[in-house]
Amino acid sequence: MEFEHVRAEDQSVADALAGEVDRQEGTLSLIASENYVSRAVMEAQGSLLTNKYAEGYPDRRYYAGCEYVDEIEQLAIDRAKELWGADHVNVQPHSGTQANMAVYLATLSPGDRILSLELSHGGHLSHGHPVNFTGQLFDVEHYHVDPETGYLDYQELKEKAESFEPDIIVSGFSAYPREVEWETIQEVADSVGSYHLADIAHITGLVATGVHSSPVGVADFVTGSTHKTIRAGRGGIVMTDDEHAEAIDKAVFPGGQGGPLAHNIAGKAVGFGEALTPEFDEYIQQTVDNARTLGETLAEHGLSLVSGGTDNHMVLVDLRDSHPDLSGGTAEDSLAAANVILNANTVPGETRSAFDPSGLRIGTPGITTRGFDEGAVEELADHIYRLIDNHDSEDVIYEVGERIDELCAEYPLYD
Ligand SMILES: *Cc1c(COP(=O)(O)O)cnc(C)c1O
Repeated sequence: MEFEHVRAEDQSVADALAGEVDRQEGTLSLIASENYVSRAVMEAQGSLLTNKYAEGYPDRRYYAGCEYVDEIEQLAIDRAKELWGADHVNVQPHSGTQANMAVYLATLSPGDRILSLELSHGGHLSHGHPVNFTGQLFDVEHYHVDPETGYLDYQELKEKAESFEPDIIVSGFSAYPREVEWETIQEVADSVGSYHLADIAHITGLVATGVHSSPVGVADFVTGSTHKTIRAGRGGIVMTDDEHAEAIDKAVFPGGQGGPLAHNIAGKAVGFGEALTPEFDEYIQQTVDNARTLGETLAEHGLSLVSGGTDNHMVLVDLRDSHPDLSGGTAEDSLAAANVILNANTVPGETRSAFDPSGLRIGTPGITTRGFDEGAVEELADHIYRLIDNHDSEDVIYEVGERIDELCAEYPLYD
C-alpha cells in the first residue's frame, strides 16, 4: 500500500498511514470487534463515490445522477436480505450506534423506557449508558448476567420487565461469550407489550452463516455492525419486517442522518457478496473453533473464563482468581509491548474500575482472517499466558515479541 497520491501532497498523513500499515501487519489484533476487510472492500470504500450526494433511497432520491449509487445500494440491500433473511434492510446507517438510534427514533419518545444489559456485564454504550444520548433521553433500567455462572439471567430480565414495563427491550451484546436465547427474550417482550431490538453487532457473521441462532423474524428489529464478523467495512445496518419498514427508513433518513455514505455502502455490497460464498462459512466456523481452542488452552494454564468458555468468537478472561494483583490494563500493556493487541474489559461483578478492569476480552475474527487455525491458536494462547504470568519481565516480553513478529510475517494481511 503506497498511498502515492497522498504522499505527493501530504507527507504527514502519508507517514501516519504508512505507520498504520506497519502496525496492522506487525501486530496481532485480538480485539473482538475488529477485523480486516479485503482489498476489494477497501477499494470500493475508498472510491469516488465519496463525491456523491444521494439523500433518499434507490429510485427515490432527492438528487439527480444517482443511477449507479442506486444500483450499488440495491445490491447491498439484496445481498443483506439473502444473508440474514430479513424482509426489509436499511444499509445506510453510518455505524452500529446510528442503526440503534434509528430504532429508538422509530419506536420511542423522550422519557420512554429502555431495558438493556448493563455495560459492565457486556452491554453497549448505545443501550442506555448515561454518557450516551440513550441514557440522556430515555429512562433506562438494566438486567444482568448471573455473576456465578456468567450466563444471562433470563429470570431477572423477566422480573425487571414486569416491574419496569419497558417500551423496548434490547438484547445483543459487546462482551458476552455465549449463545443468546432470542425466543426467551421475545416471550418476555410479548408478555409486557414491549418492542424487542436484537443488536447483533458482534455476531452478524455468525448469524448470517447459522453458527449462531438468528433473531431475524423473532425480534421486531435487528441491528448490526458491518465491520466486525462481517468484513464489509465500517458501518451499520437495520433489519425489520414489512410492518416497520417505512418507520425505519424514515428514522435513518431524514430522522438521524443526511446523505448516505455511498462509498461505504459500496464496501458493504462487496463485503456482503464475499459473505455469501462458501469460503465465508468456513471462515466463521474456523473463527469459532479458534475461540474455543483459545479458551481451552488458557483454561489449561489456569486462567478463569467468564461462563467457563465460549460459544462464539470471543473469550472473556477474569484475572481475579489466577492473578488477583494484576489488572486488565496492566496485562493489556504487557501484551501490547509484545505486539499482541487486545482490550481490558469489565467482568460481571467487577471489583476494579471501568477504566482499569479485571478482565480481558480476546477475539479471534482478525487472526482467523490472517489464516490462524487451531494449532496456531494453541501456540498463541501459550504466549498470551506467558505474557500475563510474566507481565513485568522485559526478557519474556522481548522473547515472545520476537516470536509474534515471526507469526505476523507467516500470516501476512495484505501481501
Ligand atoms: C460495536 C457495537 C455497536 C456499534 O458500534 P459502532 O462503533 O457505533 O459501529 C453496537 N452495539 C453493540 C452491542 C456493539 O458491540
